[in-house]
Amino acid sequence: MLRKPTCFCDLFAGFSDVTLVELRSRDDGSLVMHIETRPSIVGCPTCGSIAQSKGRSPVELIDLECFGRSTRTIWVKRRYECIDPDCDRGTWTEVDDEIAPVRSSMTTRAGRWVTEQVGRSARSVSEVAKELGCDWHTVNDTVIAYGKALIDKDPERFGVVEALGLDEVLFARLGKFHERHFSTSIVDVEHGQLLDIVKGRSGKEPTLWLDERGHAWRDQVRFTTCDLSGPYRAVFESMLPKATLVADPFHVVKLANAKLDECRRRVQNETLGHRGRKDDPLYRSRRLLTKADERLDDKGRTKLLGLLEAGDPRGEVRMAWHAKETVRSIYDHDNAELAVQFVDRLGHDLQDESCPEEVRSLGRTLLRWRDQIAAWHTAHVSNGPTEAANNLIKRVKRAAFGFTSFRNYRIRALLYAGKPNWSLLATLTPQ
Ligand SMILES: [Zn+2]
Repeated sequence: MLRKPTCFCDLFAGFSDVTLVELRSRDDGSLVMHIETRPSIVGCPTCGSIAQSKGRSPVELIDLECFGRSTRTIWVKRRYECIDPDCDRGTWTEVDDEIAPVRSSMTTRAGRWVTEQVGRSARSVSEVAKELGCDWHTVNDTVIAYGKALIDKDPERFGVVEALGLDEVLFARLGKFHERHFSTSIVDVEHGQLLDIVKGRSGKEPTLWLDERGHAWRDQVRFTTCDLSGPYRAVFESMLPKATLVADPFHVVKLANAKLDECRRRVQNETLGHRGRKDDPLYRSRRLLTKADERLDDKGRTKLLGLLEAGDPRGEVRMAWHAKETVRSIYDHDNAELAVQFVDRLGHDLQDESCPEEVRSLGRTLLRWRDQIAAWHTAHVSNGPTEAANNLIKRVKRAAFGFTSFRNYRIRALLYAGKPNWSLLATLTPQ
């Protein structure tokens, strides 16, 4: 077969049915590649009559780096006109999604690449933009366009979910006063997949989200889990009443630790009249107190008891410490029946008049969540996978140096932690 020497150039350009018409270098060292599609007979999209050429209009596109040089592809687009006097089509420009989507300033292959770099590998937009020699917005807009298609246009991204968790995440600090804005992560806690992120930490948005999933989908959910938060519990109780709600063990223990901490700080203040300083016994005990008892060695325990002896005259901190350890022991066995009785009794015991106020408050919460805490002993689901997803989100947030746009945050977090089907990237064209 006889090959024209320019065939190699077309091969090098990497598009099918495209001719490389010119290759040159710019003063800044970047490479410029002029391409055009092969000529063919084109029909009018409206009436089908044979169209007439109406000249060219070149479009400059950001392309992938070539041999370490940033590269621009100039697509010399063909323009056409319908000459049928009865047709009102007028003129149009050729479309080829394999080269670049309509109105995109990046080639399709560069668009897919940046989406994978930023979305899948959590690289920063600015780093990728620098590599291609283009600006931040071009890369970001492209990632969001392809990302939206991968996340929102794929009905198969997640299917049946049997165990669902809700948890709050700080999304951004915005405005002059760095006001904190929260979001809620919705997670399949059985498979550790981030399903979605909605605005705020109230029940409103998660309720709407669950409503959109429809009855059939909701009926498949057997277990739900959340922290000891009223709004999320209300969401589950109204939208998924048949599912068993499990109070997340991690958050139950965390609450006991928080109450212990609160008690220590109050006693510190009441006995010494100031916040903890580095030589104050209670301040020095803070790490030993929250450490799990089985991780304290004899030396640590002796030290802790000595510090409490010195700084806790009424034994309140000591009681809060015991309360915390008893709460932890809820999870030492998995007998469901026993768990209900245990939590019930603990909840009542902790409300004894002799207990400090923080411990009494802990007791009230335990009673309010008794069945949900004990439900863990049969269901064994926890919000652990949600915490794991939230840690992935934090990684994305670090790469982005903080988000200000919720849309960008949602898409990028879902690209990284939402397990999109990356094999679809090679086929889809963003709108
Ligand atoms: Zn026509």
